[in-house]
Amino acid sequence: MHNIEHLGIAVENLEEANLLFSKLLGNKHYKIEEVEGEKVATSFFRIGETKVELLEATAESSVIHKFIQKRGKGIHHIAFGVDDIYEEMKRLEEEGFELLNEIPKKGADNKLVCFLHPKTTGGVLVEICQDK
Ligand code: ZN
Repeated sequence: MHNIEHLGIAVENLEEANLLFSKLLGNKHYKIEEVEGEKVATSFFRIGETKVELLEATAESSVIHKFIQKRGKGIHHIAFGVDDIYEEMKRLEEEGFELLNEIPKKGADNKLVCFLHPKTTGGVLVEICQDK
């Protein structure tokens, strides 16, 4: 893993959150993207070398909807950048981490992603991601 690629933040209303984070960070989001498979709408802000990803549920079956119901809005995941996601998934599995998907999924921002179960990562939902 070579960097913190982004922090994922669960929000209830993407439009309101975009305004809030524009004020907070002093710059505007550079993209909005819906990830059909995950039932989320996302927006991205650059902040130095890393990014902030805001995530809003687009359906009640979305993991973001469930997360907010259970824990409230706020920090949802931390994403680490990797060069070879297949290699890294293999390594993590061998180290005893539970992968939430067996093959990389298509994520927002032109990435291949894989999530690790928080019960094996000290309570933190971890994403690894690679540029496609
Ligand atoms: Zn993410």
